[in-house]
Amino acid sequence: MLSTKQRNGVQQNLLAWYEKEGRDHLPWRQTDNIYHVYLSEIMLQQTQVSRVMDEYYPRFLKRFPDLKALSEATLEEVFSCWSGLGYYRRAKNLHATSQLTTPTLPDTMKELLELPGIGKYTASAICSFGYNQSVSVVDTNIARVLGRLYAKETPKDKELWEIADSFLNHVEARSHNLALMDLGSMICTPKNPTCKSCPFEEECLGKNEPELYSQKKKTLYIDKTLYYGIFQRDDKVAMYRSESGMYKDMLELKELDAKAEGELLGTFKHAYTKYRLEVYVYKIDMEGDKAVWIDKEKFAEAPISSLTTKALGLLNG
Ligand code: SF4
Repeated sequence: MLSTKQRNGVQQNLLAWYEKEGRDHLPWRQTDNIYHVYLSEIMLQQTQVSRVMDEYYPRFLKRFPDLKALSEATLEEVFSCWSGLGYYRRAKNLHATSQLTTPTLPDTMKELLELPGIGKYTASAICSFGYNQSVSVVDTNIARVLGRLYAKETPKDKELWEIADSFLNHVEARSHNLALMDLGSMICTPKNPTCKSCPFEEECLGKNEPELYSQKKKTLYIDKTLYYGIFQRDDKVAMYRSESGMYKDMLELKELDAKAEGELLGTFKHAYTKYRLEVYVYKIDMEGDKAVWIDKEKFAEAPISSLTTKALGLLNG
């Protein structure tokens, strides 16, 4: 454990490092607009910073500049604007949250946690980065930094949040949290951390064996094989609205029970959450019930998953 004096010193070093090296230029750090902060946090959950900053964040804000505009849109419109980002459940949760919280999001952890798709990390990020409250934040980057700083081998989430609470700089909590996040992303990386450039170098208890203190929980994957059929008429493809599961309300190709007799267009591998999929795509000659015909030119705007996009890509050879 660090003494109070050591902890205060480390906190100051961290802030000095952040002032020089931190990513303060990111647009969602330059605003106190809660909707902007919230949107960035949801987008960043599964997508790289550069893609969010350059493409999706400005595009989404242009189309839905505030919670009210988002709440008044149809889910289809939101999916269309989300197209290419994947994990469409995020878009659905954003839309549902906007309808519950217009004109603005609540400012307590308790209320935020009751909203769709907002877990402890996102709630704390909104409170810290958006409302400038003195609360700790733990994401995977911060967890790794704190785990190494305090030499905790595979700590449980509860322990990491307790460490983050005790390590929090209450005077400058927002900058402290952002600095820890950047430190984990830029210096204290999963492999080969550059300890020589780290503001914690002197006090870090795990610096001699950093790999030991950043072990990730092993993901147990489930292997599955899926078969899809593409039924085409002129320049249109038959798609079907999913009524349940991960892709509920989105458009999918016809799922087949087994390999089809028709022409095999191709196969590919795809992974999402805990599933590792092997996908076979066939050209078929049957139209199922309730087909929605989508023009090939409009695939990019349709609410379709990245899996379906890959399958449709086989149409072009
Ligand atoms: S000294 Fe090295 S291991 Fe420790 S927090 Fe800094 S970068 Fe990570």
